Amino acid sequence: MKNTELIEKLYGGGSLTLDEYTCLIAEHDESDCELLYQYADEVRNRWYGHDVYLRGLVEFSSCCKNDCYYCGLRKSNKKAKRYRLTKEQILECCHEGYELGYRTFVLQSGEDDFYTDEKICDIVSSIKREIDGCAITLSIGEKSYESYKAYFDAGADRYLLRHETADFEHYSKLHPPSLSAKRRQQCLYDLMDIGYQVGTGFMVGSPFQTAWNLAQDMIFLRTLKPHMVGIGPFIAHSDTPFASFDSGTTELTVFMIALIRLTLPKANIPATTALATIDPRGREKGICAGANVCMPNLSPLDIRKKYMLYDEKVCTGDESAQCRACLQRRLESVGFKPVVSIGDCACWNESNA
Ligand code: SAH
Ligand code: SF4
Repeated sequence: MKNTELIEKLYGGGSLTLDEYTCLIAEHDESDCELLYQYADEVRNRWYGHDVYLRGLVEFSSCCKNDCYYCGLRKSNKKAKRYRLTKEQILECCHEGYELGYRTFVLQSGEDDFYTDEKICDIVSSIKREIDGCAITLSIGEKSYESYKAYFDAGADRYLLRHETADFEHYSKLHPPSLSAKRRQQCLYDLMDIGYQVGTGFMVGSPFQTAWNLAQDMIFLRTLKPHMVGIGPFIAHSDTPFASFDSGTTELTVFMIALIRLTLPKANIPATTALATIDPRGREKGICAGANVCMPNLSPLDIRKKYMLYDEKVCTGDESAQCRACLQRRLESVGFKPVVSIGDCACWNESNA
């Protein structure tokens, strides 16, 4: 089948095989992209119109016990600056976010055992108690079923855990032997089972990645059916084993965003900070190709430069209010409207109707 036929097939609700995804990802020209973006834009509008959900991100700890080869926070990076926010500081970020209009807070960190399950549950339930009607997303890595369940019972609504790559062999090239794709994927199924709105995703252009690997990611997404899919380009961090690898491109990342929009029409798809880091108009390009979520930073200014997953990360010098205003301008410049309602995934609304 020709690429245009494959795109038409996806748009019409059909599904592609692994080989069809691989061909489309490996080789596409400008007119394929144009058609794909037009359809992705249309499908996003069908479910979300021109609304872009804003979620306030609080990066509350830069300490991590893991050693992912790509990440600046990995434990072997002795140059990384480590910090931990107290419960009071985290609450303060959320209150400040509330004043700026945010109603969803994403709490992200390295895998840091300092925050015991008890501490996480206390933080989650305190935010829920103090900020009426907000939603809380956790993104704190791989935990046991019981831990995930405890956070959920304490009030956490959503969980973000990227599968990073669906291919087991590729996964083992990006991580030390102590981490496995099997375990990572099991965590995602556990989260779905507990009843979270689940976000997963991967890096585009990570070392050793092939078009076939990306096609496997698409098949994995279709199987898991997460409520959210966050993808961004891999960006080399100079103090990691992958320092000399090329970063992912805007073109392929935006192409994958559009493919995800057609594959999972109702999913929440963020235009990520990593995309904005490799391209000054990356966020806008992502939104125009089917993304519908942005996650501006609410972390205190003095710690932002210490949460360095990759080099040259943008928005580390702006106050939360500046981030909010800048994003508003950017979204409006391409005809979109930032909204701060809780912003459930369209399929979630449906299943709870
Ligand atoms: N520790 C948690 C959450 C923080 S890391 C976890 O690993 O799930 C959040 C995401 O940042 C990771 O899932 C990874 O996809 C992304 N990331 C890490 N290093 C990166 C890099 N060098 N370039 C782009 N994204 C990166
Ligand atoms: Fe830790 Fe997450 Fe970075 Fe891996 S990606 S080293 S788990 S912060």
